[in-house]
Amino acid sequence: MTDKTFLNWPFFTDRHRTLAEAIERWSAANLPVGHGDVDAACRDLVVRLGRDGWLTHTAPDPETPSPLDVRTLCLIRETLARHDGLADFAFAMQGLGAGPISLFGSTEQRRWLHRTRNGEAIAAFALTEQRSGSDVANIAMTATRDGDGYILDGEKTWISNGGIADFYVVFARSGEGPAAKGLSAFLVPAGLPGFSVAERIEVIAPHPLARLTFNRVPVPASAVIGAPGDGFKIAMSTLDIFRATVGAAALGFARRALDETVKRARSRELFGGPLADLQIVQSYIAEMAVDVDAAALLVYRAAWTKDNGAPRVTREAAMAKLFSTDRAQAVIDKAVQLHGGDGVRHGNVVERLYREIRALRIYEGASEVQKIVIARQTLMGA
Ligand SMILES: Cc1cc2nc3c(=O)[nH]c(=O)nc-3n(C[C@H](O)[C@H](O)[C@H](O)COP(=O)(O)OP(=O)(O)OC[C@H]3O[C@@H](n4cnc5c(N)ncnc54)[C@H](O)[C@@H]3O)c2cc1C
Repeated sequence: MTDKTFLNWPFFTDRHRTLAEAIERWSAANLPVGHGDVDAACRDLVVRLGRDGWLTHTAPDPETPSPLDVRTLCLIRETLARHDGLADFAFAMQGLGAGPISLFGSTEQRRWLHRTRNGEAIAAFALTEQRSGSDVANIAMTATRDGDGYILDGEKTWISNGGIADFYVVFARSGEGPAAKGLSAFLVPAGLPGFSVAERIEVIAPHPLARLTFNRVPVPASAVIGAPGDGFKIAMSTLDIFRATVGAAALGFARRALDETVKRARSRELFGGPLADLQIVQSYIAEMAVDVDAAALLVYRAAWTKDNGAPRVTREAAMAKLFSTDRAQAVIDKAVQLHGGDGVRHGNVVERLYREIRALRIYEGASEVQKIVIARQTLMGA
């Protein structure tokens, strides 16, 4: 049985508790899905998450805008991740891809949110380039003024939903200032002339991922999200909200690993008794349980802080992501160890978790970058 006692913590309201039960029921009835064709599986997941209303939580209603509820995003991501990493991915990317529009979009741009919220349109967030992964301010892709609009030229890589997205939020150098001060965000529908998928990227836990080419792609001035030159701020504000939710996904993976380990330790007979009777095994399980609860405290602290009106949660979100993803890796590693040979057998739940957790320590700010952020905030006395 998955531990749900954390739902009694003061971070949550009854609305969150009801939602947690509902997403648990939905996940148990609908997940996991087959991952054979990840593009088809993702499209189908977006349709079903949209049909059943879950995607309404990824972006505000354009008619009656209200702030995103980060605790809701975290509860949904944690639960989906516990059942199926690809479902969490499909949900999360709708939020991240639409995030800049939710936070800074014009009325016209916000019309897309109707379609991302009901599962009709798939969103993508295109920030990374070959030479600017962690070093975001080093973006080379250019946005050159051309009459009333801009011409986009360059490449993006490691773009989730690349190849299946209906639109990409693209960050490019528009030149209002040096480095981070000269970037703008653009809403770019897929299929514009000059846009192409240069390469599909395969990773250890498959999901749609691609390198994209923009060869003199024309976009109107109305494609700029927020003001020209605000691209870096828009990217960082979006990541500020969604970073804690990466921690929530890691937490879901870790909880599942702990659940699987408890089942295994109780049922596996070794040396004349259950595995769970061995004290070293109990020590592992205790460490796993502490890591899960500590990660949950940091994730939901960050979410609660944002939901209670903090303009930025840079420190809290960085701590949540760093700790939760690192400790989930350790929890899952112990789960694999305690499953013995079965732990590395293809198709075993903990083998899948072992592959799924890894990228979370790299994307949306690698662990080392989170440490720099936390140290800087701490040294400033934040
Ligand atoms: C599965 C997956 C999905 C992704 N999805 C998206 C997406 O949808 N959109 C998007 O824009 N990008 C996406 N990315 C890209 C991701 O954000 C980058 O991979 C990440 O920012 C790291 O950039 P990089 O790969 O260029 O590594 P580099 O920047 O080259 O960094 C390599 C390593 O160096 C270390 N490092 C980096 N900076 C520092 C530092 N300051 N001090 C010490 N060590 C440091 C870290 O260990 C880091 O992992 C995705 C990546 C993956 C793996």
